[in-house]
Amino acid sequence: MATHTSSDVIVAGGGPAGLSAGLALAHAGLSVTVVDPARDPSQDRRTSALMVASVTMLEELGVWGICGHASAPLERMRIIDDTGRLFRSPSVEFAAGEIGEPAFGWNIPNAELVAALRQRIGETAGARTIAASIGHVDLDEDAATVTLTTGESVSAPLLVAADGRNSMCRAAAGIGVDDWSYDQAAIVLDLEHERPHGNVSTEFHRPSGPFTLVPLPGNRSSLVWVETPKMADALSTFDDEALAEEIMRLSHRILGKVRITGPRGLYPLSGLVARRFAAKRVALVGEAGHVVPPIGAQGLNLGLRDAASIAEIAADAVHAGEDPGGKRCCGDYDRARRIDVVSRAGAIDLLNRTLLADLLPAQMMRAAGLSALGSIGPLRRIAMREGVSPGYRLPRLMRRQESALLRGT
Ligand SMILES: Cc1cc2nc3c(=O)[nH]c(=O)nc-3n(C[C@H](O)[C@H](O)[C@H](O)COP(=O)(O)OP(=O)(O)OC[C@H]3O[C@@H](n4cnc5c(N)ncnc54)[C@H](O)[C@@H]3O)c2cc1C
Repeated sequence: MATHTSSDVIVAGGGPAGLSAGLALAHAGLSVTVVDPARDPSQDRRTSALMVASVTMLEELGVWGICGHASAPLERMRIIDDTGRLFRSPSVEFAAGEIGEPAFGWNIPNAELVAALRQRIGETAGARTIAASIGHVDLDEDAATVTLTTGESVSAPLLVAADGRNSMCRAAAGIGVDDWSYDQAAIVLDLEHERPHGNVSTEFHRPSGPFTLVPLPGNRSSLVWVETPKMADALSTFDDEALAEEIMRLSHRILGKVRITGPRGLYPLSGLVARRFAAKRVALVGEAGHVVPPIGAQGLNLGLRDAASIAEIAADAVHAGEDPGGKRCCGDYDRARRIDVVSRAGAIDLLNRTLLADLLPAQMMRAAGLSALGSIGPLRRIAMREGVSPGYRLPRLMRRQESALLRGT
């Protein structure tokens, strides 16, 4: 006979955003069921540059202690205009030391992060995972109920939809999206190199998109190389030696001789912003609510802020005897996430489009903007602070002082 269980919250999807939400909710004292088919995490070839607030949250949840060794600090970030166009900006370099921080963030392979999150969920009281897919979602006045492909069903007053960009939970809640695609694809791979990276992340802005080298521990880096889909297809026919030659040419050999290690990943680029971030007992977390191109390392940092935010709102409601999936909590979550998501998705889209645009005014605007960021001291510091710790109210789990107080240190 098919079983039926319940918990305070169901999390649909166990990618990095969903697992973080599940762990944050359990950490706040709620009972949580995470449902995900639990595919092999090593299939994800990406790394994520996680900013200080995200790492603070992962430390507090006991995740960073497991996987932090696989990350490298990003002490400096460099943007080099390699468009070869008439209006080019000077190279811009930011150092975390200028704002009194040891690093802007840390770069970690997604596979290591997901494995550590899964381990912590397994060790945490109040959290359980079910290795299955959700086949059907029912939303009514009192509860959200998901029926799994195994026939089992689970109910809860709140359903966190972290089931990725094609979210079926988002569709079940009737939440529409604005979505678009770019004529771009990202090639992702890991490299070993002759020269040390010095914990500097270097983003070359090329006419087809950014070409970004991000440090990993030792003389290793991850590369995110944005190209036209046609060029990406052509490059996929190159063997590792030929592709490494091309990487050395495009990176102006700043890392000396390079060697490709491991398989490559290919990600067509697109954008998506949900029209609401919560409705009908469903709160959107991670790519279910927003997808942005890989410029300025924003995607998962936004997803982790979603996770910390819904955990705070839902836990405060449950502890006050209120409904965590009710209209008030859905409204609070929608307001809490709207400005952050919409402003960042807009800024990344603008930067990407001015990079691709052949129009002189767009090139001038981009060059002037980057040049101002590079040369005007206060503007530089505001931009750097914003990257490390966004200026609006961060959820408690991401605030360093409060996290230290929670730990009693
Ligand atoms: C090239 C590239 C580089 C990037 N670099 C960075 C970076 O440096 N920094 C950064 O912050 N971000 C970065 N990002 C963004 C980041 O990778 C994503 O934001 C993040 O991986 C999305 O995680 P997620 O958990 O929201 O979604 P996903 O990882 O897509 O997880 C969704 C999960 O839901 C599950 N699921 C789907 N349907 C169902 C169902 N019906 N039932 C149950 N489970 C279901 C899936 O199996 C999956 O496990 C990058 C992205 C790209 C493309």
